[in-house]
Amino acid sequence: MTPDLAKMRRYWQRAVPIAVVIAAWSGLPVTFCAVDLGILKLVCPMGFVECCLSTKTVVTRMLPGFVLSTALVVLLGRAFCGWVCPARIAAHEADSLISKSLPRPLERVRNAIGELRQRLHGSIELSWGDGLALTAGLLLGIAFFSFPAYSIFCPVGVLSRNLIELAVHIRLRWELIFLSVPLAAGLFFALGWKCTCPAGLIRGLLAKANRTLQPVVDLEGCRMCGKCVKNCEFGIRLPNGDFDSFACSKCLKCLQDCSQKAVHLKVLSRPDK
Ligand code: SF4
Ligand code: SF4
Repeated sequence: MTPDLAKMRRYWQRAVPIAVVIAAWSGLPVTFCAVDLGILKLVCPMGFVECCLSTKTVVTRMLPGFVLSTALVVLLGRAFCGWVCPARIAAHEADSLISKSLPRPLERVRNAIGELRQRLHGSIELSWGDGLALTAGLLLGIAFFSFPAYSIFCPVGVLSRNLIELAVHIRLRWELIFLSVPLAAGLFFALGWKCTCPAGLIRGLLAKANRTLQPVVDLEGCRMCGKCVKNCEFGIRLPNGDFDSFACSKCLKCLQDCSQKAVHLKVLSRPDK
């Protein structure tokens, strides 16, 4: 029997925030950005880079945790983005809530904004490369001003801190307003705020070395219906053999969505020639 991946992912995405809340209640040092394992602190790769640049030192106490996080990204690709990231979970939940409860006239406004965005993207076409250029500029600024500016509006950090604040003190932090920075920047990108999230972009760069658990299409079974491409958040064209380890969040939606069962996970792929 094939496991229901969509259901598994939904349960997992609910279990992770619950685990963070339970950790907060128990006083354990666990957030979406770092997990303190006693002798080792698992840290976000972007957090480590930002810390080193803003202090102009290699923060050695964070180095083992950074190496471990990097190894996990090489091993699992951007699975954090697809299965753990609170910003993705919040965006998905907000989207389905809005779709279900939006009154008709407002739904028309929402569709009109969507169309406008699509037309805008048709003319400016900003994508991953532009997101990386923005991130490089941000990192230069952090190094120049010795100020960890990204922590202020990192969607993972902001949502993580707010979830813990809500669980422990039953209130939200005013810094939620900073989520508008990546959201507003994302309006100019065809793939939205995901292209403006440095935490995800850095993972994407590291995931270029990932060779495991990659979705591939068995062309004999494929009907070229295009459903997997349409439903992939990153528009990865698997049937064309265009797998992109930089972008893929290993959400496994393509496996779930293909009625022909033509998509499967390749445990180990050979490096590109
Ligand atoms: S959903 Fe399945 S059949 Fe359709 S294009 Fe993708 S792999 Fe082919
Ligand atoms: S290629 Fe498949 S696993 Fe990767 S992001 Fe797209 S739908 Fe998810």
